[in-house]
Amino acid sequence: MNETALSNVEVLRQVLRLMTAHAEDYRPLTYTVWYEYVTRGDKRLCDRVEQVIAEGSRLSRPATDELYRHCLMSPRQRMLYNAQAAILQALDSMSDAIDDASDQTGRFAGQLEAFSDQAARPLTPEAFDQCVREIAERARQSGEELARVQSRLQESEARVKQLSDDLAQIRAEVYIDALSGLFNRRRFDASLDSLVAKATADGEPLSLLLVDIDEFKAVNDLHGHVFGDQVIQSVSQAIKSSIKGRDVAARFGGDEFAVLLPETGSHGAETVGEYIRRIIERRRISDFTGDSDPVAITVSIGISTLERGESPRELLRRADKALYEAKKEGRNRVVVV
Ligand code: GH3
Ligand code: MG
Repeated sequence: MNETALSNVEVLRQVLRLMTAHAEDYRPLTYTVWYEYVTRGDKRLCDRVEQVIAEGSRLSRPATDELYRHCLMSPRQRMLYNAQAAILQALDSMSDAIDDASDQTGRFAGQLEAFSDQAARPLTPEAFDQCVREIAERARQSGEELARVQSRLQESEARVKQLSDDLAQIRAEVYIDALSGLFNRRRFDASLDSLVAKATADGEPLSLLLVDIDEFKAVNDLHGHVFGDQVIQSVSQAIKSSIKGRDVAARFGGDEFAVLLPETGSHGAETVGEYIRRIIERRRISDFTGDSDPVAITVSIGISTLERGESPRELLRRADKALYEAKKEGRNRVVVV
């Protein structure tokens, strides 16, 4: 984005002018679209807006929404948006089916009423017979129609269930780091806060491990980034296999990982840290092309254990300090503070 070319005030002035000139639409989403255009951000968006302007048209509210969806939403946001829209559609169709069913039931009730009026009057046996046959036929039709409505409802229900499952899956993925398969930083931050609060309330210990790959820059430089990614995956897998279900392992940043161990004191945490350090040290990672010799890597680990009344930030700061010590003391080691 070329924000430096225009001052912030100038950008704001232009964005507001365009918002007013087009759909007089002052939503945050509309602001985002025009901001992107004024600061020459997404090219597809700029091209499309220019085309609308060249045609002498105005960018309507629906067209603005469409542009936002197409050009500015991340694939994941778009998936969420589509799944939500599909659920609303399925709910609409369920509500239509229920309306149809109640129309049908209403019609049938009217026919039954007419029949009972007729039956109350003196009728010839033939006319009565005719009436009964008619009502039996109407009952059959009504039953068929209701069965169709029921099957439509069942279909919609299954669709809504599927879409809700998709949505839950997409939401869960928001917290997963794509490369390592571990939780991401966002989820780690939330877990750190909640586990510190829980440990403080319950008076239980809580430990934090910060794991950082040693000389990872050199690994990338020597063997390339693709191999570097493989190393990140291997370390992630080693961490995952060393912890229990209640523990939280996350990719903290580039080559750094964080592990939260609830109900674990300093001694237990050191055992887990040593275990992780050792399995990584023993591993040899082969390039998937098999062209080069297997590579040995090591990690350094800093550990802190929650002190009475300590904040999440302070716990993190102490683990980081321990990690720094581990690096300073020569790497491939565990330091507990
Ligand atoms: P130290 O032992 O002190 O930790 O040294 P280091 O080289 O590991 O530390 P540094 O922080 O200098 O380097 C980390 C490197 O990790 C730099 C960056 O290019 C690399 N990196 C960060 N994220 C990724 C990634 O997703 N894939 C790959 N392949 N490399 C990454
Ligand atoms: Mg490193």
